[in-house]
Amino acid sequence: MSADLPFLPFSKPTIDEATITAVGEVLRSGWITSGPKVAAFEARLSEYFGGRPVRTFNSGTCTMEIALRIAGIGPGDEVITTPVSWVATANVIIEVGATPVFADIDPRTRNIDLDKLEAAITPRTKAIIPVYLSGLPVDMDRLYAIAKKHNLRVVEDAAQAFGSEWQGKRIGSFGDFISFSFQANKNITTGEGGALVLNNEEEAKLAEKYRLQGVTRSGVDGIDVDVLGGKYNMSDIMAAIGLGQFANIEQITAHRRALARRYYEAFGPDFEAQSGAQLPLPAFDSSNYHLFQIILPDHGPATRADFMHAMKERFNIGTGYHYAPIHLFTMYRERGFREGMFPVAEKIGRLTVTLPMFYAMTTADVDRAVAAVKAILIK
Ligand SMILES: *Cc1c(COP(=O)(O)O)cnc(C)c1O
Repeated sequence: MSADLPFLPFSKPTIDEATITAVGEVLRSGWITSGPKVAAFEARLSEYFGGRPVRTFNSGTCTMEIALRIAGIGPGDEVITTPVSWVATANVIIEVGATPVFADIDPRTRNIDLDKLEAAITPRTKAIIPVYLSGLPVDMDRLYAIAKKHNLRVVEDAAQAFGSEWQGKRIGSFGDFISFSFQANKNITTGEGGALVLNNEEEAKLAEKYRLQGVTRSGVDGIDVDVLGGKYNMSDIMAAIGLGQFANIEQITAHRRALARRYYEAFGPDFEAQSGAQLPLPAFDSSNYHLFQIILPDHGPATRADFMHAMKERFNIGTGYHYAPIHLFTMYRERGFREGMFPVAEKIGRLTVTLPMFYAMTTADVDRAVAAVKAILIK
């Protein structure tokens, strides 16, 4: 039946005509790299995050690496994070020469389990990188209580949490370092890109150095290089996209929350019992619903592949998975990680599937996705 309907992807960016026009203006202006649009985008973001300094970059990944560098994290230091994230979250720890340590996840939130995080702290632990998977924050009060008690820096991987809140406070408006990604599938995008919320102007100046080869002004007309930086700046082309996306942030978050509500309504109260699947934790006033993920009932190693195949072939619906557990990738196995170390992460990493969720989606699309999931899972 619905295999004849148009393909429904799991994610799709929406770029409005005003944004396309604004990008055209940048392209014609003669200045396409970092310039006035980047400055304007950073100013808008800073305002949005309560006046805190914000700097933009060409990825979310490098914002975390730079935050770790600013915090002075390096060889000999341990950084604790979750095994269920995009691999970038752990790679940046290795990139700065520190040692990644994982703590297993909470099966309900699918985020790092803060009890296990605290238990993993050693005298070498210098920082923690919590991830707000699908846009759902961790218990922020508890997180910062742990950080304070053990004197740890926090680099929040809020890549998926732009527009999310914790008890009425916007994620990014409080805390230590907060990292956002504007990769193509994120709630707002710049094609590729990222932003880092910092604590003070001194850190912001360091971030500027690290994002452009370590270059600093020196003397009357000279420059100097006193730290090793990279090439991480955002262009005005990207910033023009970001400004256009940011203008709609309230509608984007509200619409995604409405779509999530529709998902719960359409699945209904009996879905979990009938199917053996698990819905995400309802969190309409905190999550930005970047992703809507269900955990499949376990039918062996091919469970998710079979489900994704059926969604595509029988119903023409795209799905994804976020994420395979990081510690089981070859490079991490080579560092000593093994199966069985983080059983919750391993189970959820194998059975999680991401259903369609994007700004241009309609409630009819949600109903279509739910009908397909039920047809596959409820015998
Ligand atoms: C997207 C994402 C990143 C990486 O962001 P990039 O902009 O692609 O570098 C890191 N962590 C999480 C949880 C993400 O979703």
